[in-house]
Amino acid sequence: MLAAATAAERGKRTLLLEKNTKLGVKILISGGTRCNLTHDCDRPGILAAFGSAGSFLHSPLAALGPRELVQLFHAEGVPTYVEPGGKIFPQSDRALDVVRALGRRLERSGAKVNLAEPVTGVAVADEHGFDVVTALGAYDCQKLVVATGGKSYAGCGTTGDGYAWLTALGHSIRLPRPALAPVTCAESWVRDLTGLSLPAVRLTVFDPQMASARTSPGRRRLGLAAGVCIERTGAILFTHHGLSGPCALDVSREISKVSEPMKLILKVDFLPETSSEQLEADLRDAAQSDGKKLAVSLAPAGIQRRLAEALFVQAGIPLARRAADFSKREQSDFVKWLKAAEIHPTGTRGFAKAEVTAGGVPLDEVDSRTMESKRVAGLYLVGEILDLDGFIGGFNFQAAFSTGYLAGLNV
Ligand SMILES: Cc1cc2nc3c(=O)[nH]c(=O)nc-3n(C[C@H](O)[C@H](O)[C@H](O)COP(=O)(O)OP(=O)(O)OC[C@H]3O[C@@H](n4cnc5c(N)ncnc54)[C@H](O)[C@@H]3O)c2cc1C
Repeated sequence: MLAAATAAERGKRTLLLEKNTKLGVKILISGGTRCNLTHDCDRPGILAAFGSAGSFLHSPLAALGPRELVQLFHAEGVPTYVEPGGKIFPQSDRALDVVRALGRRLERSGAKVNLAEPVTGVAVADEHGFDVVTALGAYDCQKLVVATGGKSYAGCGTTGDGYAWLTALGHSIRLPRPALAPVTCAESWVRDLTGLSLPAVRLTVFDPQMASARTSPGRRRLGLAAGVCIERTGAILFTHHGLSGPCALDVSREISKVSEPMKLILKVDFLPETSSEQLEADLRDAAQSDGKKLAVSLAPAGIQRRLAEALFVQAGIPLARRAADFSKREQSDFVKWLKAAEIHPTGTRGFAKAEVTAGGVPLDEVDSRTMESKRVAGLYLVGEILDLDGFIGGFNFQAAFSTGYLAGLNV
């Protein structure tokens, strides 16, 4: 939408072909229908959310950074607010207002919009043009922007159609896989805690096979220790399938990356702000002050009783244990489970529940200064179809808006 509006504002005769009967269906369901449209940070903050791929976004963000994006929406009559933590939402908390703003801009730009017209094929017509075939007709154009997104939440129209066209046009496609998806796991004790949430745990995805391998320069730059695939701190929610919540979604891309996720270990530090030594000292003091209490009731603040009981069972400590008999060894075992509970992921909830698709068009096949393909002149690739996926927090919309805008400036 932003690519089309920007191109049309520059006087380009522009046609937007959309499969759905309305625009911005994915925006409408985003952020719990509130649309977390970007993040309250500077450009380096956005880049960091994409890991080593972030540097690709230098030019797109220089064209339209998070502040400019917010201004763009303010100018369209959509004031925004920043939630604690940095997520930016429309003041109205209505994703519909974001879609309407883009719709207004599109309308003003003079771009033509054809809804309910799925593109079925794309081919290079001659040296300088494309044939675009749709369910209703055929078009030729000099420049083509492919913005078909990924293949998650297929009900939104994102069924991965663009991958086949781009492969036929000579691009390679990195295997699309779910990212920002809930994590499934083998342990029944985790699933038995369904409904329980914690605001700040640290999740570490650890690959024992990588632990002995030499750390690559890229991983060293990201500050990852040997064997650590990713480490994030944030909120989690226990579910019937495993773990959900922002922190679990953020680490899921590393789990969907491997063919045998069961070989990975998902370590949970339930109290990342407190050291093991401190926790052990606190438990010792608490146990001494009232020996009649149940030991499980001495769990640190922030650890719900259900969780403390589950960890006691995992640590092999009887739930009936009294504080007076809570041995040093048992205290240390409980702290081990509090600081490094080990879960075996079995995978993710897949594309059906993934907010983003990882994989797609390799970034080195696209000129990030213009978003033009390096393989096919006149072809531009933007948004989630690229092998670019960021953390939760508005970063993925920012990348889609920035790359779309930059393509609109260059077609
Ligand atoms: C539930 C959910 C919540 C999310 N919440 C957030 C959030 O709050 N903040 C955030 O930053 N990100 C969020 N995301 C991610 C964000 O929505 C995407 O990263 C972003 O929409 C990608 O933009 P895009 O333009 O590349 O693709 P999309 O927004 O997916 O748009 C692609 C469009 O192409 C159309 N299309 C596909 N194939 C064809 C075809 N053959 N012919 C014609 N049209 C076609 C589709 O119908 C669709 O309208 C969320 C995603 C989901 C699923």
